[in-house]
Amino acid sequence: MNMNIYSKIDSLREYAVNLLIELIKRPAVNPSFGGEGEYEKAMFLLREIEQWGFDDIKVVNAPDPRAKGGVRPNILAYIKGSGKEKLWILTHLDVVPPGDLNAWTIAKPFEPVYVNGRVYGRGAEDNGQSMVASLIAAKALLEEGVKPKRTIVLAFVSDEEAGSEYGLGYLVENHRELFSPGDVALVPDAGASDGSFIEVAEKSILWTRLRVKGIQVHASIPHKGLNPHRISAEFILLLDKLIREKYGRIDELFDPPYTTCEPTMARNPSGSPNIIPGEHEVVVDCRVLPGYNLDELLNDVKIVFEQVKNKYVKTVNGVEYPQLTIEVLNRADAAPPTPIDSPIVKTLVKALEELRGLKPKIGGIGGGTVAAFFRRIGIPAAVWSTIDETAHMPNEYSKIDNLIADAKVMAYLMMNTP
Ligand SMILES: [Zn+2]
Repeated sequence: MNMNIYSKIDSLREYAVNLLIELIKRPAVNPSFGGEGEYEKAMFLLREIEQWGFDDIKVVNAPDPRAKGGVRPNILAYIKGSGKEKLWILTHLDVVPPGDLNAWTIAKPFEPVYVNGRVYGRGAEDNGQSMVASLIAAKALLEEGVKPKRTIVLAFVSDEEAGSEYGLGYLVENHRELFSPGDVALVPDAGASDGSFIEVAEKSILWTRLRVKGIQVHASIPHKGLNPHRISAEFILLLDKLIREKYGRIDELFDPPYTTCEPTMARNPSGSPNIIPGEHEVVVDCRVLPGYNLDELLNDVKIVFEQVKNKYVKTVNGVEYPQLTIEVLNRADAAPPTPIDSPIVKTLVKALEELRGLKPKIGGIGGGTVAAFFRRIGIPAAVWSTIDETAHMPNEYSKIDNLIADAKVMAYLMMNTP
């Protein structure tokens, strides 16, 4: 082990605190949430790292008239390695809005404070902590003159909080030459409070709204109308059965280890306990294990819907009821999982064992992260960091001990990822 690098990182602690504070002071609220965007923060960061000795620094601007400067900047800072394959460490510049200002009792969102070993402010944890960790890991290598194995790309991207259309999505779509098949990636933007969880897979997401039109009638004479609420309820039960029977695979990477389909929102226009409504709608949130095809699932949902319809079908004045519609509100097909024997995962596991005596759990989650963009183009990506999960909350903070410890893991990856 190269101990100089780790003591170098320790010596950069005060610098790291100040850098994190300076980054938070430049509010980079995502324009999709009414903010001015990442321009100021990116310009500050560019000036900061200019003289560090990176082999190359590229700026790729995605045009966006809503943002300050008319662009959404993406910064790529390179340290040339001995091999030609790359290790990406990707963090995002943008932040979410502060939310309720009265709930910020320790610091104002963009006036960060450093107390009890923590820096408080919007973006302190999400994604400032990991951004600064990657920066001081690189700074330590550059100052000690240590050549990494792979070429290191520190990527500081825009728009992670609103879908990455102007961030990693833009780079993949418009600058594919930046990526090569042998690359690997670390996305330090989620994790556990002791750093023991490595995310390598995601479920697909499918939100659907199901509308049933029935016939409104007094609740005491249901046989004269058609109760869409009852039809919805029956459909939900059948959907559950379908998921258990046809989509019932178990994958222990995930918690829970199966596909879920949960009714979440419901609405009907009945304004009184004794009125059967003429309409009913329910929204279902499905998290589907990778490997299942969402088109096929949607088709099966339609078949079940038809079955329920046929059970209740009734013609009134030449019109057939119930009338059913399915609307897809959101769909994200899961990217192929990162193999657990890929070099990024194996080296990360070794780093956590050697530096922290940890045996991390490798698993999947139910939602989408920016890592999916890497995985879709065949680049294995691990999502990992050590955080208390205060992202998007008031009094968001970063523990500086975690920042320093994560910087050491990142330096280990830079020096050792084969
Ligand atoms: Zn984030």
